[in-house]
Amino acid sequence: MLDYRLFKEINALFAAGNFHAARRLLMEVQSRVIALRDEISTLKTRIHTLEEAVHLSTALYPKNGAYWLATEGVHQGPFCTDCYENSGGLIRFERFSGGLVCPCCSSSLALPESAGFYAEGRASQQARIIPFARQRSSGI
Ligand SMILES: [Zn+2]
Repeated sequence: MLDYRLFKEINALFAAGNFHAARRLLMEVQSRVIALRDEISTLKTRIHTLEEAVHLSTALYPKNGAYWLATEGVHQGPFCTDCYENSGGLIRFERFSGGLVCPCCSSSLALPESAGFYAEGRASQQARIIPFARQRSSGI
């Protein structure tokens, strides 16, 4: 915690011409400010992580033994329930002969007979190309 009395004390030391003591106190204030900034940065990171966890928990829903994610009208999945419940990780199941398997924990899930299993997640099955960098027009 930053003690604002220190500023008055520093000012009084400067006014009295005790520059060495004032400088030492200024260095102490600087050290405290740096510690406070580090604490703020840590707390901001924690808040961001918690906000993401809350958002994820509201957008995630179970269906056919897997988790699915609904964001902005797009349903993605299926994700491994074991990985999400044990570590919070969203790991997409991969297809193998006759079922699905988690590439992280090797948990498996039989692929349902119904053709609608992937119906909601169809949009996410298509690869989306994200441009790495825009090319400049050379003007030549
Ligand atoms: Zn898993």
